[in-house]
Amino acid sequence: MINIASPVIEEEERRAVNEVIESGMLAQGPKVAELEESWAKYCGVKHALAVNSGTAAIHCALYAAGVGEGDEVITTPYSFIATINPILMLGARPVLVDIDEETFNIDVSKIEAAITDKTKAIIPVDLYGQPCDWKELREIADKHELKIIEDACQAIGAEYDGVKTGALGDFGCFSLYATKNIMCGEGGVVTTNSDDAAAAIRSFRQHGMTSSYEYADLGYNYRMSDLHGAIAVEQLKKVEDFTNRRQHNANMLNEALAGIEKIVLPKIASNRNHVYHQYTILLDKSIRRDDFIAKLREKGVGAGVYYPKPLHVYPHISKLGYKVGDFPVAEDLAARVVSLPVHPKVTDADIEVITSAIKEAVND
Ligand SMILES: *Cc1c(COP(=O)(O)O)cnc(C)c1O
Repeated sequence: MINIASPVIEEEERRAVNEVIESGMLAQGPKVAELEESWAKYCGVKHALAVNSGTAAIHCALYAAGVGEGDEVITTPYSFIATINPILMLGARPVLVDIDEETFNIDVSKIEAAITDKTKAIIPVDLYGQPCDWKELREIADKHELKIIEDACQAIGAEYDGVKTGALGDFGCFSLYATKNIMCGEGGVVTTNSDDAAAAIRSFRQHGMTSSYEYADLGYNYRMSDLHGAIAVEQLKKVEDFTNRRQHNANMLNEALAGIEKIVLPKIASNRNHVYHQYTILLDKSIRRDDFIAKLREKGVGAGVYYPKPLHVYPHISKLGYKVGDFPVAEDLAARVVSLPVHPKVTDADIEVITSAIKEAVND
């Protein structure tokens, strides 16, 4: 089976973990510090703070942005649930804005209509590894004095106008979950250029501690362990290699699948570098997605659906006043997306298997 995701774990990762085990010091320590230093350098920002998940990264960034009880945060209805849950954890309200049908990212032309005097921040998501419309986002945020928290969990290494994700918003949030472009099992990173925000995040990830046994505010235990940090350091060294493999595989699929009726291939908007966390096609309404995926599976191709439902239909979100019909683009795309394997272990021969399986499944 050609799986939709498959982490690359090699000798370097094994050796790095062993060194931590032999040091006897497994909690947050020198490996995490090394990760933070190399991550900040890679993204071109002043600070990178490691935490134990992408969800924690978003929670930390929202906290440092000053989001709290009664505030509103604008975001997309088409993402992983972890984009939205941290807004709720802080007692704030997610205000959803429909997406663009070509990029799957938040439709910037609809954001201003959603801004109120309670709006504090925007969380754009670089979905599937493609950066959002950052020029427009920055203009809107500056005009209305809003913070931008970039959910770049799927987009390490992607660029807008030559600027890397993590450096595009006021905060960048990353995930190192096992299926992400680089990973350590579970982990996350927040980036920022603000010294004050970095200090707030350091405290928030460690029980709200400001100095030894002094607690300035409520905080959590969101620290990353050095075992995870050690893997992440080695993975970050390989990010360009992994990205090149993903882009190579995506380009191969683009060529091989071009011209097939009833499927729409991924589009890249101008000025950006897409890192293909997912290579996502859209099926024509006449194709039943479950059957299509089952046929691919029979041929050894593990396709995925990211995501089968938009976020506003889940009970803890719909109870805020959302209903089916509110975000027609997100709803339509959610019913038709299929993601194909492009991870670094997918070979040129695998691409041929995927291509012929799709041609058969479309024509059946
Ligand atoms: C993976 C992911 C997250 C959350 O990351 P975890 O590390 O699983 O907590 C948030 N947003 C998006 C878009 C993601 O893909």
